[in-house]
Amino acid sequence: MPGWEGSDRRLRLPPDWDKIRKRILRRDSYRCKIRNPHGQRCTEPAVDVDHIVNNDDHRESNLQAICDWHHKKKSGAEGAAARTAAIRRTAKKFTRTEAHPGLL
Ligand SMILES: [Zn+2]
Repeated sequence: MPGWEGSDRRLRLPPDWDKIRKRILRRDSYRCKIRNPHGQRCTEPAVDVDHIVNNDDHRESNLQAICDWHHKKKSGAEGAAARTAAIRRTAKKFTRTEAHPGLL
């Protein structure tokens, strides 16, 4: 299903997401946690909470406060990566060369 990734992400958030979100923002002092390649931390106020690894892991260790700009930038990049991965998966299906496990 093209474009499946990301489109239903909001639906998969836990029911108490709003509570979790507020807790993470408070933990991170309402400051964006993203660092640039030089290790300098973003100085923008955080308005949202980001999944460090983009999956369904909603534990605090996988969450960080993020500013609006970085969040848009990150979700844009993840959307593009998901699309690329989906294309790769589709391509792989038709070029599968591994031997059947039953023949090993
Ligand atoms: Zn930022």
